[in-house]
Amino acid sequence: MKKIQAIRGMNDLLPNQTPHWQRVEEVLSRVLASYGYQEIRLPLLEPTELFRRSIGEVTDIVEKEMYTFIDRNGDSLTLRPEGTAGCVRSILQHGLLTQGPLRLWYYGPMFRHERPQKGRYRQFYQIGVEVLGTKGPDVDAELILMTARFWRRLGLQDLRLQLNSLGSPAARIAYRERLVDFFTAHEDVLDEDSRRRLHSNPLRILDSKNPALQEIIEQAPQLLDYLDDDSRTHFEALRHTLDSADIAYKINPRLVRGLDYYTRTVFEWVSDQLGSQGTVCAGGRYDGLVEQLGGQSIPAVGFALGLDRLVALLGEQGRLKAPIPADLYLVAVGPQAERESLLFAERLREAIPAARLQVNYGGGSFKSQLKRADRSGARWALILGEDEIVQGTVSVKDLRQGQPQELVSQDKLSDYIKQQLQS
Ligand code: ATP
Ligand code: MG
Repeated sequence: MKKIQAIRGMNDLLPNQTPHWQRVEEVLSRVLASYGYQEIRLPLLEPTELFRRSIGEVTDIVEKEMYTFIDRNGDSLTLRPEGTAGCVRSILQHGLLTQGPLRLWYYGPMFRHERPQKGRYRQFYQIGVEVLGTKGPDVDAELILMTARFWRRLGLQDLRLQLNSLGSPAARIAYRERLVDFFTAHEDVLDEDSRRRLHSNPLRILDSKNPALQEIIEQAPQLLDYLDDDSRTHFEALRHTLDSADIAYKINPRLVRGLDYYTRTVFEWVSDQLGSQGTVCAGGRYDGLVEQLGGQSIPAVGFALGLDRLVALLGEQGRLKAPIPADLYLVAVGPQAERESLLFAERLREAIPAARLQVNYGGGSFKSQLKRADRSGARWALILGEDEIVQGTVSVKDLRQGQPQELVSQDKLSDYIKQQLQS
């Protein structure tokens, strides 16, 4: 019978990969805690209307990437393509905005029906961070400093920061008109995608990856020249903080981000080592979104970090060591040792909670058990045979460094192992 395969673009994370993910999750959640940010856990499914209203009708996500279906009640539901909309929905629903600024983060899978390729999947993972209820450039700066700290803690190098300001909605509308004028005058050189966007979402033309369009995009009017005064001051203050903190960045006037809800600051962290899907982390300010979703006018800023790309980058930079599931493997030879091995292991785990100990299953000869011990990747085999049972000892065999086997008394074993684990 034909074996069933996973859905294209939806990856299994296998046991040899999960330790890398766990490490990233642990490092990032510690950094987040060090800034006083709190975790929020949100549903994977939301009413379709939520994404239409927040992300925008004419964005790539809403136009063609959402997993939307009618459920048994006849309601239109969508698997979340991103986390900000659900996060704001939850904040409004539970009235969380009453006690000053909220510093939140969430983690989990997102779903977009994109063409699967390296770094682009249909189920992918994001850590999202959102700060609501404060409008100053200090928050934008803190978020960027935090991401820079992520990279340092993970030992990542060569991520480049790109920065832009989209200004106020009014400034953007004025700019948009100039942009439409400009591209309309050059409509003959646009590709089909860009012609379609000319009237629906002209800013996205700036984002085009088509090499044939680069020259004309280069000549297009720049949003930064149309900024309103408040946005300009905001942007300058942010740049000043980044400069004082020695965070290098490049202003990219073409950075517009794909979603409708951004205002003022937008940024991306990009790597050259991931091929064409090089953006690892992206975010910005979205001062209009809360109101757009039926709340008061509350400023907000956030970012989302793509874990799939982050883990891939760690691999590119040689930061992933092959994971080993166990430190110790318990070999038990003979009926009595076999009978006692499970409880023996339980006592050892009680004494050394940090030790990772695999017990041999299903008996077998000394030789075959030792082979399994070796294959487990464990550093040491603990050998419990008839003699050891009688003497109250355990033989400890170093499987990796050819040290002579040692006989250790059972009541000294946990101290002995603790010492070895530290060495
Ligand atoms: P892109 O331009 O690559 O499509 P985007 O603007 O759609 O990115 P965001 O919605 O800002 O991406 O998501 C933030 C981050 O999440 C991205 O920078 C990336 O790291 C990750 N990401 C987005 N879409 C995918 C995907 N389909 N597969 C894997 N990671 C993704
Ligand atoms: Mg996209």
